[in-house]
Amino acid sequence: MEIAVIAHDGKKADMVQFLMQNKELILRNNIELISTGTTGSHAEKSGLKVTRYLSGPLGGDAQIAGRVAEGKVAMVLFFRDPLEKHPHEPDVLMLMRLCDVHNVPLATNPASATLLIQSLEK
Ligand code: PGA
Repeated sequence: MEIAVIAHDGKKADMVQFLMQNKELILRNNIELISTGTTGSHAEKSGLKVTRYLSGPLGGDAQIAGRVAEGKVAMVLFFRDPLEKHPHEPDVLMLMRLCDVHNVPLATNPASATLLIQSLEK
């Protein structure tokens, strides 16, 4: 099962913490993590293997959106920073839209992500 993890700069520390807290669950369920470039390099600090795409502003969100459209992604965990502006906002909106088009679970903050990922154990 492939899960995409993405975090805006102000939320990358939260993402690393989230991955560390859920590391055993991720390993137990054979989850393959994919991510945008910079999030991926932070995420690897958790000791988990991550397949990295381009950095978000360079098209990484769009690449992951493409995988969502192709039915390859089971879940998207995107820790957005609502207090900052982002040059790639159109790509972010596209990714979220495609999650809705294809009925792919999407969490945009750590509390929702925790509920979603824990649901995999049931
Ligand atoms: P990044 O991109 O992981 O390369 O920083 C994330 C984003 O802002 O979409």
